[in-house]
Parts: sequence; structure tokens; C-alpha cells
Amino acid sequence: MKKLFVDIILPLPLPQLFTYSIPEYLQKTCLVGVRVVVPFGARKQYSGIVRKIHAQAPTRYQTKPIVTVLDSKPIIYENIFRFWEWIASYYLCSIGEVYKAALPAGLKLESETQISYQADFEADTKLSPKEIQILSLLEAKNEQSIKELSSGLKQKNILPQLNSLLEKRAVSIKESLRRGYKPKLESFILLNPQIADLKALNDIFSDLKRAKQQAKLLIDYIQFCTKIGKGKRDKDFFASEIKKAEIANTTNQNSALKQLVKKGIFIVKKKQVNRLIPESYTLKKQSKLSQAQQTALQQIKEQFESKNVVLLHGVTSSGKTEIYIKLMQEQLQKGKQVLYLLPEIALTSQIISRLRQIFGKKIGVYHSKFSDSERVEIWNGINKKENAYQIILGVRSSIFLPFNKLGLIIIDEEHENTFKQHQPAPRYNARDASIVLAQIHGAKTLLGTATPAIESYFNARQKKYGLVELTERYAGIQMPQILTANLAEARRKRQMKSHFSPLLLQEIEATLQKKEQLILFQNRRGYSPYLECHTCGWIPKCEHCDVSLTYHRYHNHLSCHYCGYQIEMPRKCLACEGNELKTRGFGTEKIESEIAELFPDARIARMDLDSTRSKGAYQRIISQFETGAIDILIGTQMVTKGLDFERVNLVGILNADNMLNFPDFRAFERSYQLMAQVSGRAGRKKQGKVIIQTINPQHAIIQQVIRNDYFSFYMEQLKERKEYDYPPFFKLILISLKHKDLNKLDHAAQQLAKSMYGSFGKQVLGPEYPLVSRIQNSYIKNIILKVERKYKVSAAKEVLQKLIEQLKGEPAYKSVYITINVDPL
Ligand code: ADP
Ligand code: ZN
Ligand code: ZN
Repeated sequence: MKKLFVDIILPLPLPQLFTYSIPEYLQKTCLVGVRVVVPFGARKQYSGIVRKIHAQAPTRYQTKPIVTVLDSKPIIYENIFRFWEWIASYYLCSIGEVYKAALPAGLKLESETQISYQADFEADTKLSPKEIQILSLLEAKNEQSIKELSSGLKQKNILPQLNSLLEKRAVSIKESLRRGYKPKLESFILLNPQIADLKALNDIFSDLKRAKQQAKLLIDYIQFCTKIGKGKRDKDFFASEIKKAEIANTTNQNSALKQLVKKGIFIVKKKQVNRLIPESYTLKKQSKLSQAQQTALQQIKEQFESKNVVLLHGVTSSGKTEIYIKLMQEQLQKGKQVLYLLPEIALTSQIISRLRQIFGKKIGVYHSKFSDSERVEIWNGINKKENAYQIILGVRSSIFLPFNKLGLIIIDEEHENTFKQHQPAPRYNARDASIVLAQIHGAKTLLGTATPAIESYFNARQKKYGLVELTERYAGIQMPQILTANLAEARRKRQMKSHFSPLLLQEIEATLQKKEQLILFQNRRGYSPYLECHTCGWIPKCEHCDVSLTYHRYHNHLSCHYCGYQIEMPRKCLACEGNELKTRGFGTEKIESEIAELFPDARIARMDLDSTRSKGAYQRIISQFETGAIDILIGTQMVTKGLDFERVNLVGILNADNMLNFPDFRAFERSYQLMAQVSGRAGRKKQGKVIIQTINPQHAIIQQVIRNDYFSFYMEQLKERKEYDYPPFFKLILISLKHKDLNKLDHAAQQLAKSMYGSFGKQVLGPEYPLVSRIQNSYIKNIILKVERKYKVSAAKEVLQKLIEQLKGEPAYKSVYITINVDPL
């Protein structure tokens, strides 16, 4: 047989593929797209992916043979490779980095991967002797790296056995981030299956004549089944399982339940519940579209005939989601898959319950709050099982799922900056990458938003994308009335109660009195962004970064939002020992505590990064707000994105000025989007009110938000962008240099900027220190390259990469860490 070689993609930030030889006995099973185990370096092993099989021995090095093949069928297809290759070349990273980002940890094993033992594993398939050995090693000491395990077994290659154990869920990949997560068990009640008809039930009721509590519980059960639609037909509720918490909470109810179980009427079961996807849902028919929605739908379909991308610009609450649902249904009928991208995990939990009612279990959800094994399941579900998930609802990383029949990608809230990944590479924007992904699959992309990104609207006006506009809210609800509260004036007249103007307080009061709900938005978390000594002006700063520490009152500590460094709240000034440390500025935590003092009877919740760290937190806050268990929701930009609450009739924006004054060319665009979006949460069932607190009510952006005048906003921003050479007319590439030695960094940045200047002229900005110029003890300098759109951007990228390689080639600068960020936002 002719000797064959394979080019392998390894999960490493190295530009090239690596060539290995295929031993003869593996030549049949080693196919393009399967995972193989290969040795790398002196002692390491990785699982890599076969990209190419050929007969060309590399000239520069002696090949090593691959160790084994992990998959019996390819898990990556040509379309996916093409997509990876596009990402690598557009965003200037290695294909290995894309591979690393694309696959859940459970599908890419390497020597350092930590494996842990699943205590609740019960084998229903036979385990091989080797597999049993691995399990007993883990039983003795849980959590070992693959390297440790293989030395424990005195066997070099154990990845195939581990892979098999992972598939059987006997072991799992340890995830340091999700420490402490345990599957949640809940009790469910069902009627004993022996009670199979109404007559039997009637008999029971007559037996229970004297046990009033028990009879009552049984009635509650039946009523609940009917309510959730399970008892529509008489006999349906005989098979219904409902959560115990739905009907038995009080001591009386619980003891009645105990009796009923004892009598063999009820059975209680414990089941593992998914915290993020509602377990019980009722399928319902889709709503009928309004005339305006119908027209928009028709226009979208017409535009798709000639355009690959359509922008749906519809005001908040115009019913865009209902239009998406119609489009999704059509794709399913054609047997195609749909990817529905959202900017925020918080949003997936609300939309999923809406979509579950229409599409049932055909939808899978994919994001980082899921455990790795749950993510592997979705991966495999799309890849292997026929039609397991036809719709995927997810955040940006879902673009890497192995779609094979993609028909449509919907990008909801397309303007959001969370679609962009900044760290680590690939530094991709999921909206832009989606458009390419769709093209590769011959699918269409729909961008939806009330406040399009300047770039997207520009592309639509240039006829590159189709454009459909929906200008009215569903059911003729008026857009909210937006008022400003002049902070300068209120302060001068000493009318402010801490951070609240009289107008805002009065509206909060009125809203609470009407038993309606409200949202308060402040774009900073924590209690206050910094402390200051009243006597000497000392401000506590992070030891490792160039930022002040944020005060978190609940934990009574100061923490760094860049590196996580924390210190206990100092009692005295650490500089002059004075004891007048004052809090400055305010975050969501402070608003929460002040509101609690001003409105002691109101029920308050806060949604920000700090309050949503645990897995089910979003879900809990959102559903409490939905059911009316909370009156006031205070939050950061998390509350601005597409959430749909029926009874919110007031939104307060506590400080518009800090958004508008942010030193960034997108500050006005972001401010407009944030204010318009958070306003859009108000009055979805009747006209609502928005109060914007600002020292400058006449600011053009605020006036455009008040008039809901996207078009003027757009035209004005576009003029500025043109004048100062910014996107959409120019592409930006951000080059960041990092080093612990400030001097070395300065020289390296100077030298790179100089050589860039030689190639690109005055389109090079910097080097400059960013706003935060030191993070985790490394200093940072940025250089920005602006490339005019009409020139060949890829040629410019090539030159840039050469210049960076040259710099890295100099021994003095080898240790400077350099990242390239294309379209940095
Ligand atoms: P958007 O996504 O544009 O903000 P949504 O799709 O969330 O708007 O719709 C806003 C509200 O109006 C939702 O509560 C939704 O249930 C309701 N709605 C929209 N279209 C319809 C329809 N055709 N029939 C019934 N209710 C609708
Ligand atoms: Zn002091
Ligand atoms: Zn820090």
C-alpha cells in the first residue's frame, strides 16, 4: 500500500497544520473530518481533526504516526471547514484557535484536560477492563488530568477509552468555571396508574369525604392539570406529572399529600430538571399576524429572492418575534435547520418559553451556562441524530455548531456588541460571521432590531442587504412617552433625593400605586465605582491594574472589574488614616439600596453580572418579574435587550450623561441604542412612560430618542463617520501590545507603529495607552489601523501580519504579547 499522510488541525495557536503518517491498520478508518489522537512534542497527546489525506511526505521533518482514530464517521464536514478557514483568515487567527473555540471541551481531549468521576453513574452497557481500571483510578482520587491517568495506568494512549467513558457519561470533563453545579432534583406528583378512569376517581372522592384536606389536594391536582392543558380530555390527567411545588407547599398540604401517598392514590417521583428549559409547556397555535406584520413578512420573503441578507428594522414591540416564528415554520416544513442568535443569555430564557409553545422539543438551546456535557449533547444531536434539533436558539458561540441543512439564520438585536468576542481568539463578530456561514450553506440571514447598527443600515441603504421597516407597535399601542429630568436644575434647586429627581420619584410612586411595574437602568454594577478620602483625596486602586476599585456593599469589599482582585473595605484611609472615606458615583447595587429605603414596601430585584452568576439566576429573576412577584427591576444593560414584560409601564434611565460622554467613536451610537432599547421595555400592552435623567436635555441624541427618530440619528452619525474616517467607510484593525516592562513595551509599540506608518501612511493611529492602561500587571499600548473599504482589506492584513512577525522576530521583543482584533467595535 502507498504510504499515506494526514494534515491535522490541532487546538493550538500555531498557524500551520501538522502532518502525520497513517499506520496501515488505520488507513481505512482515518477519514477527513474525524478526530484522531496524535503525539505532540515530547510527551503530549492531543485530539486533532483530519483536514487532508495525501501522499506528500513533508520535506522538513520526520512524521510520527497517528495513535488512533476516535470517530467512526466524520464529525466535521467540508462546509464547516470552509467556515473555520474563513474565520481564521478574516479575523487573523490560526485554524487551531477556531477549532478550540468551536468544539465543546468534551470533544477535544488533550493531555492537560481534567477528568472527573461521575458518582451517580450506573452502567447499563458493558465496560472494557481498561475502562474499569480508569474508573477505579478516579474513584480513588477524583479529578485527574489525562496525563496523570495515563501514567497511573502505565499506558501512553488512553484517549479512546476516555472518549468511550465520556460517551457513556461515566466520567466528565471538569469545568473550573462551573464549580458547585449539581443537577437539580425536583419532586413530581402523579396519580397512581391503577386509578385509570373517572369512576375510580369518584370512588376515591367518596372515601375521602371526611378527609377534607386530602380531597382538597386531589381537587387542586385535577384543576392544575386542567389549567396547564393536560386535562383537556377527561382521561389526560391520569397520566400527568406535575411539580409538587405547584400544589403542595404548606404543612397542611404536605401532610395531606403524605396520607394520599400512603393510601396509594398519589405517587411521588424525583426527577432531574433542567434549570434553563421549562419542563412543562403547552403547545399552542401561532398567533395570527397583524396586517403590518403580514406585509413585512411578505416583503422579507420577496427580498430574499434577490438578497442573501435582509434587515428587519421594526420599532420595539412591533412583533418581530412573531414574524421570525413564521419564517422558522416555513424552514421546518422544508426540512431545513434554523439558527436563532440572541445577544444575551438572559434573553434566551424568555424567548425559549415562547418558542417551546410553538416548536416543542425541536428546539435546542446552546450557551455557556450549560454544562459541557449538555453542550456535547446538542453538538451530537445536530450532527448525528436525524432531525434532533431543527432550531437552535443560542448566543454567539452557536455559530460553530455542526449544521448540515441550514436554511435560515436569524440575528435578533443585531446591533448588540455582545455578538463580538474580544478574548480569546478568534475575535469574531457572530453577526458578520453568520452572514458568511449562511452563504456557505446557501441559506439566508435575517437581521432584526429596532435600532440597527450604523453598518447594517448603511449596507441596507446601499442595497447590499434588503430592508424592511415596521414602524408601528403591535395592536396599535403608542410608543412610550419620553420625558427628561434636568439634573443640573434639580441639583441647583436642591431637589435631588440622592440620585433621584423629583420627576422620577413622582412617577415611581404613581406606578407603584397603580400596581404596575417599572425598570430602572444604570450602566454600572456594584455599589459605587470608587471611594475617595474626604481629607486627602486618596482613591483605592487595583494593585494589578490601572483602575479604581469598585465598592460592593453586600460583600463589603472593593473589587477590580478587570482582574477580580479584591480587598476588604478599609475602615480608614490607607494614606492619611483619616476615617472619612466617601463613596463616589453609583452603581446598580446602590440604586437598589436607596430605592429600598425610599419605597420600603416595594419588592425589588437587581439584574446585573453580580446577581446572575449562578446557573438559574436569570431565569429566576425574569420569571419573578413576569409573574408580578417583583415591582421594581434594577439593572445594567442586561435589562435593555429585547425582554418582553407585560406590566412594565415606567422605565427610568438614571444617568444618560455617562454613556454620552464615553470616549469612543461609537459612544453616541451606543447611547441611542441603549436608551431607545430600554425605553422599548415600557408600555408593551398600553402606552408607557420613560424618564431620562440628564444634565443636558437638549443633547441631539436624547432629542432623537425622544422623537424616535432613528433616521436623523443615522444620517448625523454617518456624516461624522465619513468626516473622521470611521466605519462603515473604513475598517478598523486594533493591534494591542502587552508587556510587564513598560520600557520594552514602549519601544516595541514605537517600532511597530513606525513600520506600519511606512506601509500605510497616515491611516495608522497611535501607539496610545487605552483607557485602562495596565491589566493584571501588564501594560498595554494600542495601535489602530484604518483601511478604506474600497481597498483590498485582505492585502492590508497580509502586510500587517508580516510587520508583526518581523517585530516578533527580534529577540528583544519576543516576549511582547501582541493581539490583532479585526473590526474591534
Ligand atoms: P418585538 O420582538 O418586535 O419587540 P414581540 O414579537 O415581542 O415584539 O411582540 C410584542 C408583544 O406583542 C408580545 O407580547 C407579543 O406576544 C405580542 N404580539 C406580537 N404580534 C402578535 C400577534 N400577531 N398576535 C398576538 N400577539 C402578538
Ligand atoms: Zn486620606
Ligand atoms: Zn485588577
